[in-house]
Amino acid sequence: MIFRIDRLQAEMPPPSTPDPAGAAIVQELLGGKFGEMSTFMNYTFQSFNFRARQGARPFFDLVSNIAAEEFGHIELVSTAINTMLTGAGEAGNLPDPKDAMNPQHFAAGGAGTLVQDSNGKPWNGDYVTSTGDLIEDLTHNFFLETGARNGKLKVYEMVDHPAARALTGYLLVRGGVHQVAYARAIELLTGADLMKMFPSPRIPTDKIPECQPHIQRGEHTKLYRFSPNDYHELAAVFTGPHPETGDPLQVIDHPPEGFPAFDLPAQEGVFAPGYEPEEIAEIARKLREKAGLSDEPTGEVANNGNGVVGKIKDAVS
Ligand code: MN
Ligand code: MN
Repeated sequence: MIFRIDRLQAEMPPPSTPDPAGAAIVQELLGGKFGEMSTFMNYTFQSFNFRARQGARPFFDLVSNIAAEEFGHIELVSTAINTMLTGAGEAGNLPDPKDAMNPQHFAAGGAGTLVQDSNGKPWNGDYVTSTGDLIEDLTHNFFLETGARNGKLKVYEMVDHPAARALTGYLLVRGGVHQVAYARAIELLTGADLMKMFPSPRIPTDKIPECQPHIQRGEHTKLYRFSPNDYHELAAVFTGPHPETGDPLQVIDHPPEGFPAFDLPAQEGVFAPGYEPEEIAEIARKLREKAGLSDEPTGEVANNGNGVVGKIKDAVS
C-alpha cells in the first residue's frame, strides 16, 4: 500500500505569466514514453510482480522504494503544468487557439494536467517493461532513467517558464540518483559498471543554475526511504562513491521534508472547481462546522495568507 503526504518533493514557484504552449511541451515529462508515469508504473509493476523477493530483498526494496519517489514526481510535473495554465483559463479570457498547443487543457479539462504526452497522445501500458528477469528489468530501468534525463534537458531548453525550470532543475538531479542506483544494482549483480560502459546522457548539471540548490544540499547523493518501517535493505545496494563526483552515496531514513504546494486559484472560465467556487466553499465551511472541525481549512498551502494568489489573479487577468 502507499502512504500519502500532502507536500511536494521540491519547492515550486507561484503562478506567474500563463504559458499554455510551454505547458503542452512539459506534458512529455508526464505522459511521454520516458515520462514520470512511465518510471512510476515500470517500478511499481516490477515490484508487484517480483518473485522470490525474500532472496533478493535489497533489489526488491530498491525498486519498490524508487517507485514511491516517482509518484511524487508525477505530482511535481502536474504542479508545473497546472501552474503554467493558471491565468489562461479565466472567464472571458480563454487562450486563442494558436496559443493552446493542447486545446484539451481547456476544452476537456479545467486548465489541468492530462495523462498525455506533448503531442496529446495518451500514456499507455505498453510503456511498462516488467519481464520478471531482475537483470533485464534493472537494465531497462537504467535505460529508462537515461532517456528520462535526456528528455528533461530538452524540455529545460525549450521552455523557460519559472515553473518548468524549477521542475526540470530538480528532476535532472533526482534522475541522476536513480541512474546511479540502478547502475550500482547491476554492478553488484553482474560486475558490469554501466556508468563506465555507457556514460550517457552527458548532462552538465553543475552548469545548470536550477540544479545548483539541489546539488548544494547533496540531493545528487541521497536516496530517501519512503516508508515508516519498510525497504531498509536498499542501503545494501545504494552504497559506495558517486561515480561522477566521488561523494559517498547515502540513504536518508525518511522521505524528504518537502514543501507545501500553492493553492492555485479557481479558473471560472473552465468551471474549475465550478461555475461559482464561492458556493462550494460555503458548503465546505458548513460541513466543517457540522463535523466539529476548525472554522479555517486545515491543510497547509504555500500561499501565506497575504493574498498571493489574489494578486496573481489580478495581475494576469
Ligand atoms: Mn522521476
Ligand atoms: Mn527516476
